[in-house]
Amino acid sequence: MASVTVAWERNGQMETADVVIIGGGVIGVSIAYHLTLKKAGRVVLLEKGQLGEGSTSRCAGGIRTQFSTEINIRFSLESLKTFERFKEELGIDPEFRRIGYLFLATSDREWEVFRENIGLQKRLGIPVELLDSQEIGKRWPYLRMDDIRGGTFCSRDGYAGPSEVLSGFAAGARRGGARIREGVEVTGILTKEGKVTGVRTKEGEISAPVVVNAGGPYAAQVGELAGVKVPVKPLRRQIFITAPFHLSDQPIPLTIDFHRGWYFRPEVDGFLLSGPLDREPGFNLNIDYEARVEASENAMFRVPAFEKAQIARGWAGLYEISPDNHAILGPFPGLEGFILANGFSGHGFQHSPVVGKVIAELITGGRATTVDIAPLSIERFEKGDLILEPMTAFKE
Ligand SMILES: Cc1cc2nc3c(=O)[nH]c(=O)nc-3n(C[C@H](O)[C@H](O)[C@H](O)COP(=O)(O)OP(=O)(O)OC[C@H]3O[C@@H](n4cnc5c(N)ncnc54)[C@H](O)[C@@H]3O)c2cc1C
Repeated sequence: MASVTVAWERNGQMETADVVIIGGGVIGVSIAYHLTLKKAGRVVLLEKGQLGEGSTSRCAGGIRTQFSTEINIRFSLESLKTFERFKEELGIDPEFRRIGYLFLATSDREWEVFRENIGLQKRLGIPVELLDSQEIGKRWPYLRMDDIRGGTFCSRDGYAGPSEVLSGFAAGARRGGARIREGVEVTGILTKEGKVTGVRTKEGEISAPVVVNAGGPYAAQVGELAGVKVPVKPLRRQIFITAPFHLSDQPIPLTIDFHRGWYFRPEVDGFLLSGPLDREPGFNLNIDYEARVEASENAMFRVPAFEKAQIARGWAGLYEISPDNHAILGPFPGLEGFILANGFSGHGFQHSPVVGKVIAELITGGRATTVDIAPLSIERFEKGDLILEPMTAFKE
């Protein structure tokens, strides 16, 4: 890797670093942490607001192995290793609750796709169960069953705390010597002769041979700062939380009504209910009445007992959608030193551990070794090598 070339004049002091990371969400801090583990030299992370204020703090925390493409399953399996030992490694309890994920199919086509997916999942060692509607009705009697064809359940899946995971990685990165700066917006990416040479901020310029785009839903805007196109669209997703509500004494998994694109899971004494995912891109973070009605209708349809539940609050966040709903990882061709960690399409929280690891491997060793990320290169869009899912993946 190139030697230290960063110089930041601040209050007369010279700061140096090898890598500048733009964006202090869970992806940026995981990359910073893993770079420090690799002894990558001076690492500087710049966040325009506060750490986690983007999508990370608005995320539902879902962690699952039940994906329909091999690369996403491999990412989940690798990330699980970190979630399982998070407290020992990073000193913070990630509040990982293995409540399981239950996917429900209501159409013949969905049922067929679920059965195909389970073949791939089992081949990769995931203990998924294929359940017929009778079995589902028996295990989770509060569900409306008359339209359900079947489902899949994996008890290893669950959810964790986004702010705990973010804080763990950030603390680990700081302990390892990374400099994390909040309130510093990158306003320009400096380039010369096809190479990144640094970044511009209101506080001054930092010259650096490696700049990482970890801008979440702002990835395209960060790309523009370097004069390149990063095909990531921000799509709003709304979430609602009920007042305390007792549904069952049994454990309740994160349950996905695939057809409706709706899910719910326990949240403290009540439930988290998903609202709609916008179709049109935008940065609107308001919640709206129609979304609340849609979330309630889906909830009462699938779990009739929810008729008595009340929605207490809600929020909206932005998914960072790529053209094939898979991450865009690796170098930007033709702009040496510009590294992309973008486009997680609603799965960035659960894949943040492995993303940090593979990007650190790439920067320090020239290639990712834990999981081959070549299929996730941005070049796939030009080459037409999109990673196709059998059905548009459900988004947490
Ligand atoms: C409602 C909702 C539910 C979700 N549920 C799940 C789930 O269950 N499981 C899951 O895995 N994922 C989920 N996600 C997706 C997950 O939240 C994201 O994939 C993940 O947080 C992305 O992290 P990030 O660090 O890339 O982006 P972010 O957290 O958005 O961080 C990017 C940061 O970059 C900063 N930034 C941007 N431009 C600049 C600049 N020029 N200079 C400095 N800083 C800049 C921003 O301020 C921001 O803080 C959900 C998302 C939403 C919205």
